[in-house]
Amino acid sequence: MQGDKKSVLILGGGLAGLTAAKRLTDRGFSVKLLEKRSVYGGKVSSWKDEEGDWVESGTHCFFGAYDVLYDLMREINVYDSVLWKDHRLTYTLAGGNSFTFNTWDLPSPLHLVPAIVKNGYFRFGEMLSFSKSLIPLALKKDKYPPTQDYLTFTEWAKQHRFGDRLLEKMFRPMALALKFIPPEEISAKIILDVTEVFYRIPGASCMGFLKGAPQEHLIGPLQEYSKEKGAEFLPGTAAEQLLYENGEIKGARLANGEVLSADYYLCALPVHNLNKVLPVSLKKEQTFFGNLEKLKGVPVISVQIWYDRQITSENNVLFSPDGVIPVYADLANTTPDYKTLRGKPHVRKSRFEFCVAPAKELLSLSKEEIIDRVDNSIRSCFPETSRGAQILKSTLVKIPQSVYAPLPNMEQYRPTQKTPVSNLFLAGGFTQQPYYDSMGGAVMSANLASEEIARVSGG
Ligand SMILES: Cc1cc2nc3c(=O)[nH]c(=O)nc-3n(C[C@H](O)[C@H](O)[C@H](O)COP(=O)(O)OP(=O)(O)OC[C@H]3O[C@@H](n4cnc5c(N)ncnc54)[C@H](O)[C@@H]3O)c2cc1C
Repeated sequence: MQGDKKSVLILGGGLAGLTAAKRLTDRGFSVKLLEKRSVYGGKVSSWKDEEGDWVESGTHCFFGAYDVLYDLMREINVYDSVLWKDHRLTYTLAGGNSFTFNTWDLPSPLHLVPAIVKNGYFRFGEMLSFSKSLIPLALKKDKYPPTQDYLTFTEWAKQHRFGDRLLEKMFRPMALALKFIPPEEISAKIILDVTEVFYRIPGASCMGFLKGAPQEHLIGPLQEYSKEKGAEFLPGTAAEQLLYENGEIKGARLANGEVLSADYYLCALPVHNLNKVLPVSLKKEQTFFGNLEKLKGVPVISVQIWYDRQITSENNVLFSPDGVIPVYADLANTTPDYKTLRGKPHVRKSRFEFCVAPAKELLSLSKEEIIDRVDNSIRSCFPETSRGAQILKSTLVKIPQSVYAPLPNMEQYRPTQKTPVSNLFLAGGFTQQPYYDSMGGAVMSANLASEEIARVSGG
């Protein structure tokens, strides 16, 4: 307790931790936040390299469905930084072909008619059998996906016989883009949940990009907001262990042995880091915590490549089932602040950001080998415009454990924000909320955790 204010120690300065810091300072708590790294934002972090160019942890698309994120952005006056793109999803293929799922500005499900009848790639018969497979989803709506959590998406697709081409060309990049794991590993529930939302809410699949770096347009302003209201931020400070005694958390021990104490503790850590700070005794005593060991992080690699010419004019997200780049974008088109390289004008050149997945087999490769594979993938999708193109610069970020892996039957192990320990709370994309491990999920989890803390404190 500080003065008459109740205190909260937040572990983790990703989007969930920073959102919670805002929510809790708004509610009058005294907030201290520990962040292991020197930069905030976790998986949405971005920083300038030694040449002054922004490097991002990963390509971040803003789905229309993330209402909770946009409410937060409006509250800190950065909503205008989201630039909404045309409502369509384009897939690029090896050999230079592509196909696009367009939408109409009509109520659901009519908004999807052009995607089904004129995508320019899948035959009408293929789309018809796919549409038939979705009948249970259309009838039972959000009640249906949870019943399919015991299957991988490939198993579900085989049962519904909608054809290998749809699975390979449309759903493989979709699964890899969503959670960096392929359809033969991802739970059917995830893909069905996302499909149901895209089907039911016309704007849900519309994509936006930030005007520039997340640090300037989201993470920085979010942190600044709470700082101005008195929240204390400790960068470069990792919590090593939570101290558990007599059914309560008594403090968080740091690497230097110092112990920080508060009335409430909110862990907003990736699940593998949470498992490290939770005391073994607590995991043994409570299956709620013991079960968290079952949730694992997925590896992913982010690559940025600047070319000496414009390879695509597409001002939107792109998917590709071929090569190692399931989802990517030319940020020189989507993101106005990124139109320079090393401070020099970079107009009409390409600055791609790629999500490289599945990454399990690639993590051990050198930067050169990975860039080479990514470069080959983009050249095979754009054989004409990439002919003779030179790479001006490239960056690479390896994340061995990123979002939690939503494999079949994992949903049951996702924890609530409230825990069996009365002064310990959880937030983060892996905790229970409908947006999974995403920016929307991080914000939603922080909202729920902050509400719980306010409730138990009687606020
Ligand atoms: C490559 C990539 C692309 C993505 N693309 C999208 C996208 O397009 N759209 C979308 O919605 N989502 C996307 N996501 C997912 C999204 O980034 C995450 O779901 C979200 O940022 C998770 O936020 P979080 O706060 O829960 O966790 P994190 O961002 O992981 O934050 C946790 C923080 O805790 C810190 N920490 C760890 N251990 C300790 C410790 N012991 N003590 C103190 N601090 C600690 C970490 O350094 C980190 O800052 C993407 C993720 C990646 C990796």
